[in-house]
Amino acid sequence: MDLLELARDVVEGKAALPQTGLMLGVDPGLRELLPGVAFVPSFCNVMPLAAEGALALVDTGAELVAAMNHAAVRAWTQAPLCLAVYTHGHVDHCMGMAPWDQEADAAGRARPRVLAQRGVLARFERYRATAGYNGAINRRQFSLDALEWPTSYRAPDEVFDEETRVELGDRALRLRHARGETDDHAWVVLERPRVLYPGDLFIWCSPNAGNPQKVQRYPREWALALREMIAEQPALMLPSHGLPLAGAEEIARVLSTTAEALEFLHDSALARMNAGEPLDAILHGVRLPRALAELPWMQPIYDEPEFILRNVWRQYGGWWTGDPAALHPAPERALALEVAELAGGAQALASRARALVDAGDDVSLRKAVQLVRWARLAAPDDAGIREAHGAVFAARVACATSLMAKGIYGAAARA
Ligand SMILES: [Zn+2]
Repeated sequence: MDLLELARDVVEGKAALPQTGLMLGVDPGLRELLPGVAFVPSFCNVMPLAAEGALALVDTGAELVAAMNHAAVRAWTQAPLCLAVYTHGHVDHCMGMAPWDQEADAAGRARPRVLAQRGVLARFERYRATAGYNGAINRRQFSLDALEWPTSYRAPDEVFDEETRVELGDRALRLRHARGETDDHAWVVLERPRVLYPGDLFIWCSPNAGNPQKVQRYPREWALALREMIAEQPALMLPSHGLPLAGAEEIARVLSTTAEALEFLHDSALARMNAGEPLDAILHGVRLPRALAELPWMQPIYDEPEFILRNVWRQYGGWWTGDPAALHPAPERALALEVAELAGGAQALASRARALVDAGDDVSLRKAVQLVRWARLAAPDDAGIREAHGAVFAARVACATSLMAKGIYGAAARA
């Protein structure tokens, strides 16, 4: 399959994206897209660069497929790996070094130099401190019951703060720091020919700038970074997830529309905050313009624009939502018992929740979830209510677009 042809057809609206969530639905195996510039499609792509007998990698991939990715690169070149760049410290990007280090040890060579933005070091510390939490939320987010969060990481040998430049044979890579999906992101430009490695700052779907279970994201700085990338006029873009894309015009189109969406959500939320509005008014009053929302690379299949609005609130405001009743809330079970009694029993709440699901519209579904949760809290041992709870959340899963929402609702449906 010609990945560049497919990506161009997607941008022109002639083909659908071949991915489910972030998984590429394409044949694995290395492609050399330009002389010395290669691409290994994977959950997190690995992007080798060969120059004058030297080899570098942009992103190293996930632990589970590290040996496979290593073999794919080794079928292409035997040049020693000199340099690996982590575009950021998410575990699908930085857990692929083991086979490369082992190979260097076995050959009696120095291990490859790993380069990343300084924030990666603090991230690894945080990951060790929050391994239990990260295990729990990622098992839920990705529906992977067996997932264990790692506590041991291949640290970078060298870190940079704002920008750096590294030479590899006759080629040079420039790395720029930008807060966006993470606070430790580096986007990378190969100088000649001009190739852009945006990391996760472009992922072929609604940007992961809202993630409900993870630390702060930075939509405005993210958009600024995308505009700087466009100014580089890259002829080829190799994102860390999804398809590679060729053509300065096509690349500018997908990056600028992604920037526009982030700017729209950021500016709309902030304007309402400045006008003194509560979070509720922002969540239900701001919608992406249709021209942006309908773009094939803006679909909310992983994260959602609504979650991005919450992250803007969190970035500039406090945790309080503007609802005075939410400042010192009653314990949720005490409130559920009170509401159930007013409704004439937990069963009445559950029945109404099912009726709201049948109504099928978005607001009814949102209400249904709240009512059935109160019913379950008020009568946790009632088998009928347990069944209604499962059914309402299963309906919520079916209507959810994003993997993040499906993961949370799916876990509730099974509870
Ligand atoms: Zn990623």
